[in-house]
Amino acid sequence: MSETIFSKIIKREIPADIIYEDDLCLSFKDINPQAPFHALVIPKKPIEKVSAAVQEDKHLLGHLLLKAGEIAADQGYEDNFRLVINNGEGAGQTVFHLHVHILAGRPLGWPPG
Ligand code: 5GP
Repeated sequence: MSETIFSKIIKREIPADIIYEDDLCLSFKDINPQAPFHALVIPKKPIEKVSAAVQEDKHLLGHLLLKAGEIAADQGYEDNFRLVINNGEGAGQTVFHLHVHILAGRPLGWPPG
């Protein structure tokens, strides 16, 4: 997988507003927030997108979701938040390092755009 802006954030080569980190993942505020709270949770392992994940990533993918829920709760959005994963250009993915969007703090309509 080629280097992305997110691998540079992991390596602290470019700045980000980091709100959580452990050995498997990193979470930071989105630079172009679409809700009062908008953060991303990314694996440190460079996986391009969900459809590029493999069986051995099962634990890591579960970890990302659990942490996303905990991070939302830590920010005061225990019950009302949305997690989004765009997979592929046609679905709106622009950075090809898997990431979970956490959106909260406003009414979230359905269906999404
Ligand atoms: P995607 O469209 O791939 O699902 O989401 C990529 C997200 O990354 C977008 O919401 C975009 O605003 C965010 N983003 C892109 N570049 C940067 C950056 O350099 N720093 C941060 N914090 N977020 C970024």
